[in-house]
Amino acid sequence: MEQDFMVEPDLKFIRDMKKAGGDSLKKCFQCATCSVVCKLTPDDSPFPRKEMIWAQWGQKEKLMSDPDVWLCHQCNDCTTNCPRGAKPGDVLAAIRNEAFTHYAFPSFIGKMLSRPAYLPIIMAVPVIILLAVVGLFGEWEVPVGEIIYANFYPELAIDATFLSFLFFALISLGVGLNRFWKAMVERHGQAGLMGAPVPNLLAALPTIFAHSKFRTCDEGKERYYGHLGVFYGFVGAFAASALVMVGYWGFGIHTPYPTISLVKLIGNLGGAAIVIGALIVLVKRFSYTKGSTGYNDWVLIALVLGLGVTGLATQFVRLADMRGIAYPTYLIHLVFVAYLFLYLPFSKMAHIAYRTVGMTFARQAQRDLLVSDEVALEAKTAVVK
Ligand code: SF4
Ligand code: SF4
Repeated sequence: MEQDFMVEPDLKFIRDMKKAGGDSLKKCFQCATCSVVCKLTPDDSPFPRKEMIWAQWGQKEKLMSDPDVWLCHQCNDCTTNCPRGAKPGDVLAAIRNEAFTHYAFPSFIGKMLSRPAYLPIIMAVPVIILLAVVGLFGEWEVPVGEIIYANFYPELAIDATFLSFLFFALISLGVGLNRFWKAMVERHGQAGLMGAPVPNLLAALPTIFAHSKFRTCDEGKERYYGHLGVFYGFVGAFAASALVMVGYWGFGIHTPYPTISLVKLIGNLGGAAIVIGALIVLVKRFSYTKGSTGYNDWVLIALVLGLGVTGLATQFVRLADMRGIAYPTYLIHLVFVAYLFLYLPFSKMAHIAYRTVGMTFARQAQRDLLVSDEVALEAKTAVVK
């Protein structure tokens, strides 16, 4: 008996995708060149060809619960080889951007972060909060004597402010990731799932920490160094901040630390790695003309560069005793840090968490089993036996 299949396109989703950087998706004529050249796709039901047609047809729910979208590392081998200029690498990036907004909690913040028109409000919120804290606990007058940032924004207030932001971000991110995971399980079903989430997560982590998938592609090899620099730069910056916090609460040590100290060394190396990594990504973006850079990408690059540059600058202007600009520079740096923490679940920064969860599920669903992936192959062999 002949069966009819009805496709109900989500037209708003198609419009949103186009605004989020997927404006070329309608050009695709399903030749599958992209799936052939992609080195990261599984042989069975490969991406990104199928995602291109789902995007053209406005199949939002399918795409939002598709772990394959997170196996793509936007190397753009597919975009370079696409005969129609449909930019599948950009379309998959736009789908990932849509996912943050789709699963965001509270959802209105996700929507605001994805629209340039709301940027002034988005920026104003951390500025107002930080200025209010300075008004309540800090010192409006430029403090006399040695430049000590804690005299302007006390250490206790720093910890209270940013731990509150972090707490909010973790709750919000947890809700979003939980929604994402449930959607993938619901769509995929239990059949074929291999093992439990935690072992699959642990098995996926070495790939994530080594950034090895970035190295697999041809077109975007330089991005491997850029992403690696930014990733481990943030690890260094967070480690230095955590050490300062432990020093303050555990041993009563106040900032500033001596220039020659372990904390400063870790922090400065982290800051330098962030700036160099972001510059590599930026140069690659400008030099690659076949793809495009969307709003979320520009915001992320600006945020990462802003964090790194102002972080290093706060120290430089303090050591150079540039009193007039030291405290404003420090305040600008705090605004960047506040933006990072407060909007982590809604900005492109969240892709680290979503990619980790997507890769974990892909492993569990036996989608992320490439020939080079020995750990996964061993696990698969063990299941087959
Ligand atoms: S995106 Fe390009 S390469 Fe891929 S199927 Fe469509 S037209 Fe072919
Ligand atoms: S951007 Fe790279 S990883 Fe992503 S689908 Fe295209 S070829 Fe594959």
